[in-house]
Amino acid sequence: MSNFFETSIEFLKGVGPQRAALLQKELKIFNYGDLIQRYPFRYEDRTKFYSISEVNDEMPYVQLKGKFTDFEIIGTKYKKRLVGYFSDGKGEIEMVWFQRVDWVIKKIKPNIEYVVFGKPTRFGNKINIAHPEVEPATENNLKRNSFQPIYPISEKLRARYIDSKQIAKFQFELFKTAEQHIRETLPENLRIQQKLISKREALKNIHFAKTQELLMAAQQRLKFEELFFIQLRLIKMKLVRQGKFKGEVFNDTNLLTKFYKEQLPFELTEAQKKVVREIYSDLKSGKQMNRLLQGDVGSGKTIVAFICMLLAIGGEAQAALMAPTEILAQQHFSNLKKYTDKMGITIALLTGSVKKSQRKPIHEKLESGELKILIGTHALLEEEVKFKKLGLAIIDEQHRFGVAQRSKLWQKNADVYPHVLVMTATPIPRTLAMTLYGDLEISTIDELPKGRKPIKTRHQFDSQRLKVNGFIRSQVDAGRQVYVVYPLIEESEKLDLKHLMDGYESMTRAFPDVPISIVHGQMKPEAKDFEMARFVKGETKIMVATTVIEVGVDVPNASVMIIESAERFGLSQLHQLRGRVGRGAEQSFCILITSFKLSADSKTRIETMVRTNNGFEIAETDLKLRGPGDLMGTQQSGSLDLLIADLGKDGKILQQARDAANQILTNDPALAKPENVLIKHQIESLRKTAVNWSRIS
Ligand code: ADP
Ligand code: MG
Repeated sequence: MSNFFETSIEFLKGVGPQRAALLQKELKIFNYGDLIQRYPFRYEDRTKFYSISEVNDEMPYVQLKGKFTDFEIIGTKYKKRLVGYFSDGKGEIEMVWFQRVDWVIKKIKPNIEYVVFGKPTRFGNKINIAHPEVEPATENNLKRNSFQPIYPISEKLRARYIDSKQIAKFQFELFKTAEQHIRETLPENLRIQQKLISKREALKNIHFAKTQELLMAAQQRLKFEELFFIQLRLIKMKLVRQGKFKGEVFNDTNLLTKFYKEQLPFELTEAQKKVVREIYSDLKSGKQMNRLLQGDVGSGKTIVAFICMLLAIGGEAQAALMAPTEILAQQHFSNLKKYTDKMGITIALLTGSVKKSQRKPIHEKLESGELKILIGTHALLEEEVKFKKLGLAIIDEQHRFGVAQRSKLWQKNADVYPHVLVMTATPIPRTLAMTLYGDLEISTIDELPKGRKPIKTRHQFDSQRLKVNGFIRSQVDAGRQVYVVYPLIEESEKLDLKHLMDGYESMTRAFPDVPISIVHGQMKPEAKDFEMARFVKGETKIMVATTVIEVGVDVPNASVMIIESAERFGLSQLHQLRGRVGRGAEQSFCILITSFKLSADSKTRIETMVRTNNGFEIAETDLKLRGPGDLMGTQQSGSLDLLIADLGKDGKILQQARDAANQILTNDPALAKPENVLIKHQIESLRKTAVNWSRIS
């Protein structure tokens, strides 16, 4: 867009300095461009009446005309709700009220014609409308014909009389002069191919659509454009990298074959084999590998990582594995050492708690090349850690590290970058992966090792604690180990810690003869590691802990995961925690303990956990419940400040945008062809203005 859109919002008719200051502060609207891209978040469509039979939960607000045939009160106390059966003669739909039930009963009468307005949602296998607007079907109400945009607004703005309607007026005012300045950003052939309306039409209809159809066309166009340029950039980065960065060629498989023949403790799953093939083809390609390996908890990523290390070592290079915690690094180290010792491969552990005197020999052997594998935490990134030839850098649980750390590992080899494999167990829905890791190749282990019994998950209320204790007793008596996890968040740290301590105490009272460990964030790292190690060795049978055990720890004998106040955990976190059990041959269990009062979202989370063990299904639900920002934690949420597209819902458009971007860049990598000139211009202007772009990479 041209300079016109950089005009300060202050100069728009009806705004002025005071309102401009408010708009800046409250809505981050600084100039005309910001305003025109401040899209409504929903619309009130009063242009038509839908028939009940066509209503579905994908629809925004809908207007219906009909009569209530009956009312019914269901449930008692806080579960009480009023259901009104609403019919238009051909179909019936339920209207639901959770509040002001008595008032509604008094006011709304059966068998009188009403106009009803609300958002259809799915409730189990039924569609209903909660808290609809209900008005008598007067002539005026039936004739109304408006399609109103609803803009996000803050309380402060409302207090100063800037409401959604006022924003709509500003938009209208702006559009009068802006229309002629709006430039197309997508080439015509792409628009034809994707059936997209023009930018001008799209911006007009996103604000002032007269019908649902026009609005949907506008949304499609703007969402596509937004996702298209993100994908274009990510794919471009990938192509640049693939073309530019050479990689060491590792094609000697002798060491690997030896490992397969003599040591491989189990047969790899088909998914593991597939992933190993994908990585191997990268390692021998002569180009630097940048690959994300995602696989649900317990899917066996570690062995894959080790196999890749053997390829690097077979190619006369060194390999490093970085884990987010000491415990995890320690565990990787002792697991892999079992193999390497027998194969005569040197391996060392480097973490923050390794003493200075022990570090020196490690540093020296790394530089001389004598040491082949280094396992560690952040400590690997320190200046003094220099390799003779780092061929492969693996990062476990990528979501715990920032992108900056990933690139620091790159720099460990001066002339040729090491191959990089990042592993994550946080299941990432495809849409999100394409956006966050769109510059990486992606491999997925989508299968668990054979013979794993799916974990049985149950929901229990606080009041059933005695029963739960009885269950713990039976499992401990059978020789199993048990985790009991408590939430701990900063805001309520003191209270949470008290709950944890109380929980620990009541466990010691209930099981006086059973050795119990406790681990939480306030303990010194050494004390924590000591307790953790006791549990890993089987010296203690019950581990009472906060979420510090969430990541990676592997104790195959632990078969029960009890999560206290489960309603306070996010879905992905619950799934991660549950993944700590179910690693051995025994049947494992996860018990989610909650109080009686559960919000709708908490209920969905608990139900989802009880229903499925599938990490990807869980991730999809999580994305829908929480939105992408929360899902990834603050570290990466910045990259997802999308103006209009929604990664939870727009997976299809995202795929189309990615395919289109791929096609264009394959045919014209430099975007030098005349038909792509608009794309090139848009990329340049986005580079100048959009801060959020730089955060993606
Ligand atoms: P994650 O992907 O969560 O890092 P791990 O690599 O820790 O999973 O593997 C979980 C457990 O499964 C380990 O005890 C590992 O030895 C075992 N395992 C891995 N692959 C297989 C396989 N193909 N068959 C049987 N057990 C396996
Ligand atoms: Mg792991």
